[in-house]
Amino acid sequence: MKKTFDSKVLEVLEDKIKLIKTDKGAIYLVGPIRLPVNLYGETVVFQWYCWLNCDEVTEDFERIINKLSSVNLAELQQSSVLVYGDFEYDKDAIIRFHSICHTGDIFGSKRCDCGFQLKQSMKMIAEHGNGALFYLANHEGRGIGLFSKAMAYILQENGYDTVEANEALGFVDDSRNYGDAILVLKALRTKPVTLITNNPKKLQALKNAGLEVSGREPLWGDISKYNEKYLKTKVNKSGHLEVEGTCCND
Ligand SMILES: [Zn+2]
Repeated sequence: MKKTFDSKVLEVLEDKIKLIKTDKGAIYLVGPIRLPVNLYGETVVFQWYCWLNCDEVTEDFERIINKLSSVNLAELQQSSVLVYGDFEYDKDAIIRFHSICHTGDIFGSKRCDCGFQLKQSMKMIAEHGNGALFYLANHEGRGIGLFSKAMAYILQENGYDTVEANEALGFVDDSRNYGDAILVLKALRTKPVTLITNNPKKLQALKNAGLEVSGREPLWGDISKYNEKYLKTKVNKSGHLEVEGTCCND
């Protein structure tokens, strides 16, 4: 049954929705939304945007809003981006493409360095004065999903490294795709960006998508006995660039 639509809702929302066409359909980007966050005890105000992929391509946003309550979005993850400062126009901006990590980001797991990298990159962006943190929700466990990641962790407790465990479960080592995030980035800023990463594949993905990349900022730091092996695998097997003095590598 179709619900009656309050025209006020569309009036309020339509200026905050942007249609981005993709090869498969469209991305609907909603925002900016003021989001004060607690960052190491300080309140920092970001502008938050969230996006949704749809097959349907329409400027009639009422059609999209009408579908929301029946498509069970909570069962599917949506990605979002935190923007800081004058991201569209400032000459230099730094960005981070952060892959979701349920265990690291939410629980603060020490098996990886994700939670640390998330907070640290938000801090780097705020200190830089402008930038964006893309939180990529379909990237759990390098794209294998949370349930598979749980199994991969069990394999890792039995002698497999990160790459071997993913491959043993039938996945390619890294199945992450940055296409949608790059389209959203292009909608928010067209000038060059500096990428916060230790991963040259991410740098390459951005360059391949035709973005002007002005540089790379490394991000290492939270090394402990729990993630030392994981970090070593990142450097030795996944082509991550080692940074002198801050990496646990031999
Ligand atoms: Zn992690």
